[in-house]
Parts: sequence; structure tokens; C-alpha cells
Amino acid sequence: MRRRLVAGNWKMHKTPSEARAWFQNLLERLPQTEAEAALLLPFTHLPYAAQVLGDRVAYGAQDVSAHREGAYTGEVSARMLADLGCLYTIVGHSERRSYHGETDALVAQKAQRLLEQAIVPILCVGEPLEVREAGEHVAYTLRQLEGSLNGVNPPAASSLVIAYEPVWAIGTGKTATPEDAEAMHKAIRSWLEGRYGRGFAEGVRILYGGSVRPDNASALFAQPNVDGGLVGGASLKLEDYLQLLTA
Ligand code: PEP
Repeated sequence: MRRRLVAGNWKMHKTPSEARAWFQNLLERLPQTEAEAALLLPFTHLPYAAQVLGDRVAYGAQDVSAHREGAYTGEVSARMLADLGCLYTIVGHSERRSYHGETDALVAQKAQRLLEQAIVPILCVGEPLEVREAGEHVAYTLRQLEGSLNGVNPPAASSLVIAYEPVWAIGTGKTATPEDAEAMHKAIRSWLEGRYGRGFAEGVRILYGGSVRPDNASALFAQPNVDGGLVGGASLKLEDYLQLLTA
């Protein structure tokens, strides 16, 4: 049984003080639900997450250095994130792949750094519009998955989360249909089975991301291979995020 995960990706939004107040409001209104809540935050917000959210709501970062330590100005290591209590961290988000030139090989190194610190990578994959229109989306996404997991050896199924995020659906208001999401998630799980074995593949949570909102979440999350969502815009509004947790 895979526990649903609703992971909010705040990107570069809110100040640390605004975040602290939001966390307090969240805790006051946190619904009784079987789903797990997580927030992926800018680095600056993490000390407040540690103080306010503690172990009631999981949190983590949106990126990590591929290096362990050293003269890497501006970088933040997995060890630093672990020290602040991060349980999850995103790697390979399409915005980092396209605006910062991150390759599959770099994403794989970052995932491995997180695993060394017992932080669960939320590994993002997904095709751009022209690839979907050409009907190459499954092959493209599985190739990206293979490259981004090259040399990555999670100790257990619970140590890895995959987020399928079609690039054309991120922040655009366009969402994959539940059937299209399910077809891709099924293909990803079957690839994971070939790589890591059946038991492992059955336990890995595969999230859908791309314009998930309260009005479309239930249909997406009802698909057998969709284990929750990675949510950008809708995770910034408390009312919306609370509704997603019960969707
Ligand atoms: C994301 O940033 O990962 C994302 C899916 O954003 P949005 O929900 O805004 O499309």
C-alpha cells in the first residue's frame, strides 16, 4: 500500500517571514487525512520549517549540490539539508533542466548525494510539448528516467519518489488527462520493475505534476498508479493546499 503524497513546490515565492506565518496557519487547519503532506521550499525558509513544522509536516528543498562539501560558492549540500531535518528534496525539475542546463548525469549525482544523507529525492521527469505531439513522450520520459537514475541505488522503495511532470502542463493551466497520466505512470513503474525488481517498483510513489488544482486533483489521484501530486501554484494558497490533501 503506497501512502499518497501531496508535495507543494513553492518555487521562488514568499519571504521566510511570510512562510513562517503560513506554516502556523497550516498546522492550525491540518485535516485528518491519510495523505502525507510535504512542502518543498526555498533554502531560506527551511530553518522556519524546522522550527514550526517540526515533524508534523514533511519539508525539504527544491535543489541540492552535486558536491559533498568544498569551494562551491552559492551551493547547498545534502548534509546541510539533513541537518535542518529535510525529508524530501526535488531534483531534476524541468525549470532547473531548462534554465540551468542540468543534465540527466548531474541530476543522478544530486539524487545520490541526497540518498547518502537519507533524504528522499523527488526526481522529476517529463516531456516537452513537441515530444508529446510527436507521440514520443513515453520513450523520451523513460530515457530521461534512465539517465537520471544512472548509478543511483536507493536502499528501499520508500527512499525514492518519481514525479511525472509534462513540461507543457507546468504552470500553464493545462493538465494531462487522468488516462494520459495513468498510462505514463504505468510505463514508469514497469521501467522501475526492470531496473530494481517488482517489489521495489510496487512500493515507489509516482506523483503527477502539472497544473494540479482542487477541481482536477481527485480524478488524477484516483488513478491506480498516481500516488499523489507535485503541486506548484495551488500549493501557495492555503485553502487550495488543504483541499488537495483531502482529494
Ligand atoms: C511544479 O512546479 O512542479 C508544478 C507542477 O507547477 P504547477 O502546479 O504550478 O503547474
